[in-house]
Amino acid sequence: MNNSTINLSLSEIYELAKTTLLNNGANNENADAIANTVTTAERDGAISHGLFRIPGYITGLKSKKVDGSAKPEIEEITPIIFRCDAKNSYAPIAHQYCLPPLIDAAKKFGIAAVAIRHSHHFAALWPEVEKISEAGLVGLTTVSYLPWVAPAGGKTPIFGTNPMGFSWPRVGKNPVVIDMATSSMAMGDVMIAARDGHEVPIGTGLSASGELTTNAAEIIKGVLLPFGGHKGSAIALMVELLSGPLVGETFSYETQESDNADEGPARGGQFILAMSPDILSGKNCTDQTERFFEKYDAIDGTRLPGTKRHRNRENNGPRAVNANLVKTIRQLRDIK
Ligand code: NDP
Repeated sequence: MNNSTINLSLSEIYELAKTTLLNNGANNENADAIANTVTTAERDGAISHGLFRIPGYITGLKSKKVDGSAKPEIEEITPIIFRCDAKNSYAPIAHQYCLPPLIDAAKKFGIAAVAIRHSHHFAALWPEVEKISEAGLVGLTTVSYLPWVAPAGGKTPIFGTNPMGFSWPRVGKNPVVIDMATSSMAMGDVMIAARDGHEVPIGTGLSASGELTTNAAEIIKGVLLPFGGHKGSAIALMVELLSGPLVGETFSYETQESDNADEGPARGGQFILAMSPDILSGKNCTDQTERFFEKYDAIDGTRLPGTKRHRNRENNGPRAVNANLVKTIRQLRDIK
């Protein structure tokens, strides 16, 4: 275990990520999209989806299950329904292609959805829903992944860590953003706890022999549990359905069957919905929602979801990054 860190500025983080991706098979457009996603995660303190993900991104490029030169294709099925074939790219480039038509359609017709297929999602979900809210819209998205989570009462994994992202726009303020795994803990955070020798809360997961444990390394060999017992399990089930069959993609267990098990991110689907509060409500509901958020914020001990990341964002200074991780990424960058 080595917990020493190196300070890197945000532009150094971007350059390190982008050059490493370029040197390992990504073209400029794809490398830029991924490096931006990684840098914004480090900027917001979401470190399990920052530089920590670069070795996995490189694994997928090297095994060729991910196409680093992909150009996603968008098909307009109806005026409010789009299909995006990500062409085996990492998700950030697919979002660059599909969010503008989605946003335009939701602004015009009140609601629009995009079904993303053949995408490798290895990031947090807030970048896509925040972008939707920057346009004054409500965003909702779900992603499924490899089966690492047992349903409530079980010991056998069937769900991915199945995150969902939601954002609500505010005038002149950051949106309210909920972005969460439906597992008790995101796998990236369990991996970081294992790397750094930290315990995780009881209820996070089970060991390979099916026992509750606080040992993160044991949980990686066993299964994660959903958050909130049967209720979180039900939401994880909903995410499986929205991110798989609804968008023409696989369930997490089917994803595993076709994955090459190289430990790079598996291919799967994503569901994104954009809604116009003005068109759906038939009025401007900003005053009403602002009164609600004020009332919420006034309750002692609370904060709105998203505020921690947005507060981190105000700091433009360097970020402390795990020294071993930086060494590993520099080695990947310098391999010719
Ligand atoms: P957290 O449990 O850290 O946070 C979940 C949400 O709750 C966030 O919106 C957070 O806002 C909010 N929140 C946290 N604490 C409070 C509080 N005290 N009061 C009010 N709101 C609070 O997230 P997870 O660990 O579940 O997920 C981490 C990331 O992993 C997510 O970005 C998710 O998208 C990503 N992920 C990606 C996967 C993939 O396949 N691509 C798979 C699984 C997860 P805030 O940000 O302000 O803390």
